[in-house]
Amino acid sequence: MRRMLRVAICAVMMWVGLIELGSFAGDQSNAAMERETVQASESVLTSVAHYEAKPFLAAHASYETKQQLAKDKPAAAAGEKPSEPVLAEKAETKQKTVYLTFDDGPSKNTEQVLDLLKQEDISATFFVLGEHVLKQPNIAKRIIAEGHAIGNHTFDHKYERLYGSFAEFAEQVMKTDKAIYQTTGVRTILFRAPGGTHTNFDQGYFDAMDAAGYQVHDWNVDSRDSKQQGVPASEILTTIQGSKLASKLNVLLHDSAGHEESVKALPAIIKYYKSKGYAFAKITDEVKPIQFKPADKLKWSRASVTKPEIKKLVQFSEKLARESALAQAAANAPDLILHRGEEMLVLKAGEYGVTNGAIEVSLRKLTEWVGGSILLDVDNGLIDAYYEGNRVLSLTGDEIHTSDKGQVIVPVRAALHKFGIQITKYVYSDQQREIWLTE
Ligand SMILES: [Zn+2]
Repeated sequence: MRRMLRVAICAVMMWVGLIELGSFAGDQSNAAMERETVQASESVLTSVAHYEAKPFLAAHASYETKQQLAKDKPAAAAGEKPSEPVLAEKAETKQKTVYLTFDDGPSKNTEQVLDLLKQEDISATFFVLGEHVLKQPNIAKRIIAEGHAIGNHTFDHKYERLYGSFAEFAEQVMKTDKAIYQTTGVRTILFRAPGGTHTNFDQGYFDAMDAAGYQVHDWNVDSRDSKQQGVPASEILTTIQGSKLASKLNVLLHDSAGHEESVKALPAIIKYYKSKGYAFAKITDEVKPIQFKPADKLKWSRASVTKPEIKKLVQFSEKLARESALAQAAANAPDLILHRGEEMLVLKAGEYGVTNGAIEVSLRKLTEWVGGSILLDVDNGLIDAYYEGNRVLSLTGDEIHTSDKGQVIVPVRAALHKFGIQITKYVYSDQQREIWLTE
C-alpha cells in the first residue's frame, strides 16, 4: 500500500510539476495467541507474515517494515536506558484491542448498529457487499461520515461464483471497490472473503490479493450469528463470552437484513469487552490481518489463478489508488486567487481544475469578474463572451468543455488573452496559488 501511495504521490507531483508559466496557455507472529476460532479448526490460523513477499507490490509493507525495524534495532547496551520508542511499543502491545466487524451490509440494521456505536463512542469495521452499497448508498456514506472503516466483501457473496473461478472473484472485488469508492470517496484495501478464506482461498488467491495490495482479514471470534436464521441475541452473547480471549480480537458479526438479533446483542457484547479491559478500534491499513491458513483440501475444484488474472487486478488496484490520491490532493488544494488591481477573485478547490498543465476556471465567473458578460445561444449551441462592447470569445461544439458541475470551463491564460488581459506574475505551489493580471 505504501508503495502504491508513493506511486500515486509521485503522479501528483509530476502532474503539478508540469504546470509552468508557459503551459497556462496551452509472523510468523504469535500464532498461538491468535489461535481462536469456532468455525475453523484450531490448526488453521496463522499470521499473514507467514506468506512470502510477493513479486508485484510489497503489500503489508506498513507492518512488515515495522517488524523489520524492530528486528534491526540494536540491542540496548548493558545499563543503557531503553529508548522511548521501545517503551512506547511495549505500552502499545499491552493494550488489548477488539475489532468489531459487521459483514454483508449495509442494510436497515446497519443504521441501528451505527446508532449504538455512536452512543458508546466506539469505532468498528463494516465489510460491505457491493450490491448493497449501490442499494443503500446513504448508509454506506454514513459509515464513513461517522468515522468507521469500510472493507470489501465482494459484490454478491455467492460462493459458487466467487470460488468457482478467480476471474469472477476478481471481477467482484473490482466492482465492489468501485461501488465503495464512487459512493463514499474512500478507496479501501481491507477485504474479507465471504465464508472466510479457509477451504475457499488457495495460495493463488492469497498471492493475487497480496500482489494487488489488499489486506485479507479473517477473524478469531465467531459470534455464530449466521449459523442459521434468527440466532437469539442471548445465544450470540453466550458464544462470544465462551470464546477465547487474546490481545487482539477480530469479532465476526453481521448487519445484513435478518440480523436484528445481532443488533439486539450488541450493547451486551460491548459491555462484555469493556469489562475485560478492551479498547475498541476500527481496522486500518496498519492492523495486521488475522488470517486462516489455506486448507489442505479446498471445497472447490477450479483452475489455478493465472498471471494475466493477477495482473488485471493489480493494474485495477493501482489505478484506483492513483485516482484516489489525485482526488485527495485536489480536494486539499489551496484557493486560487486572481488579482487585478484591487479586485480579487477567490476560487476554492473544486472551483478550478488543471488539465494538461493549464488552470481552468468557469468562463462565466471569469468574464463577469473582469466586467464582461456571457451570451448563451442554446438553440445553436453557442457561447459568446463580451468584453468592453466586443465579442471576444465564441465557443461552439467541441470547443465547449464543462466541469463535472456542468459549468463551461476555459483555460484561464488563453481566455484572458482574448480579453486583452495578461498575466504579469503567478505563484503556483501546494500552499499558494495566485495570479496577478494587468489592469
Ligand atoms: Zn459474509
